[in-house]
Amino acid sequence: MKQQIEHTGSYYAASAHAAPARPALEGNISTDVCVVGAGFTGMVTALTLAELGYKVVILETAKVGWGASGRNGGQIINGFSREIGYIEKTAGKDGARALAALALEGGNVIRELSARYNIQCDLKHGSVLAAFTPKQLKGMEDTMNTWKARGRDGIEMLDRTAIRNHVGTDAYAGGWIDHHGGHIHPLNLVLGQAAAAESLGATIYEQTRVTRVDYDAAQPVVYTEGGSVTARFVVLAGNAYLGKTVPALYPKVMPATTQIIVTEPLDDAVARTLLPTDKCVEDANYVLDYYRLTADKRLLFGGGLAYDGKDVEDVQKALRPKMEHLFPILKGVKVDFGWQGNIALTWSRLPHVGRLGKSTYFAHGYSGHGVTSTHMMGRLLAHALHGDAGTFDIFAGMPAMSFPGGQLLSVPLSQLGCWWYSMRDKLGI
Ligand SMILES: Cc1cc2nc3c(=O)[nH]c(=O)nc-3n(C[C@H](O)[C@H](O)[C@H](O)COP(=O)(O)OP(=O)(O)OC[C@H]3O[C@@H](n4cnc5c(N)ncnc54)[C@H](O)[C@@H]3O)c2cc1C
Repeated sequence: MKQQIEHTGSYYAASAHAAPARPALEGNISTDVCVVGAGFTGMVTALTLAELGYKVVILETAKVGWGASGRNGGQIINGFSREIGYIEKTAGKDGARALAALALEGGNVIRELSARYNIQCDLKHGSVLAAFTPKQLKGMEDTMNTWKARGRDGIEMLDRTAIRNHVGTDAYAGGWIDHHGGHIHPLNLVLGQAAAAESLGATIYEQTRVTRVDYDAAQPVVYTEGGSVTARFVVLAGNAYLGKTVPALYPKVMPATTQIIVTEPLDDAVARTLLPTDKCVEDANYVLDYYRLTADKRLLFGGGLAYDGKDVEDVQKALRPKMEHLFPILKGVKVDFGWQGNIALTWSRLPHVGRLGKSTYFAHGYSGHGVTSTHMMGRLLAHALHGDAGTFDIFAGMPAMSFPGGQLLSVPLSQLGCWWYSMRDKLGI
């Protein structure tokens, strides 16, 4: 019997709501839409299409939420991983205006779907971006003003004293609070979305790896280890885990690993000292740390980046010193969970989206900030194949460079880049 792929040993898997056992695909079937990958991108696309009346089949190598969507920091970070000036240069003024209008879309979709389908995912409001240096703080203020000029509200600058109201450390020169940000239990969110899609008639096959996609056929065909799906439309949502399944997409993203540890539940007083207002926090460094409290008052602390998507040997060893340096009160605290997962980087740090053949759509490469972007993109994908591709095509029209030399050569190049940026972070330049 084929070995089942289970969730990684995360806090999320240990506190996940019950989910039904879903079968693997055996045999050949046909449908309106076949979605590859049951993370946020795939599930939001599938759910939106099911709401529109499409017959949707989702194929997942492992389990719903097995990839980055079920093991991330859970931080709702609005906007894009790239400044609006760059977007304007590449997408033009009208394109940039259209994309800027989507700055809050992903977070809104999370809240909307959670409310509509009563998804219990520990949703909390507000996120903090923390600056170590006055230079970082000034850069953030400029960014905030650029966004404000485009009608984006909800960001409030915090000086050295004000950030102390939210984060119990003197490490920061200031920061901002985004009142439209927040945090979630990501695995429970995606599991809730899967249940909602199923309630509308979608079918999810787990333990079903897609091996090949024939997108040039009159109707695209998705081949799996045990069968095939012929569909009017295919949506590729495998992100960092898609690997070489679709060779045309492989050189466009580079997987990188990031790690998370979770402490034992903390005393209320300690939890309140660390994060008095229960916001999530990420810092403004290039290789950043991110943390928040879970619903049962553990500190969930993430950081680090290993290029090439290879796991680090000892997650706790990698992260504990950073956590204890920031919060000495946690010295010696028990760490109950440690895990890692892959993000997909693009050269531009904007998602790479588009079509292959006439009716196979793809979106991947959220470059580390995918919790909101995947929700925005799921909606855009669904609307695009429903006939409204306007905004999707603005993204699709943006340049998407391949990594020079493929992923093999790009690893040393990016490591060099990463080293350079971390040195800048350390030296505060
Ligand atoms: C440790 C970690 C922390 C993070 N923290 C944050 C954060 O706090 N905030 C934030 O905004 N972003 C964060 N991210 C990034 C964010 O989680 C991702 O950008 C986002 O979840 C990507 O969603 P996705 O659906 O596109 O891909 P995934 O969630 O990775 O889903 C892809 C799915 O496709 C499946 N798949 C792949 N290939 C195949 C195939 N051939 N056949 C069938 N199925 C296939 C995989 O098994 C997987 O389940 C983090 C990521 C990681 C790893």
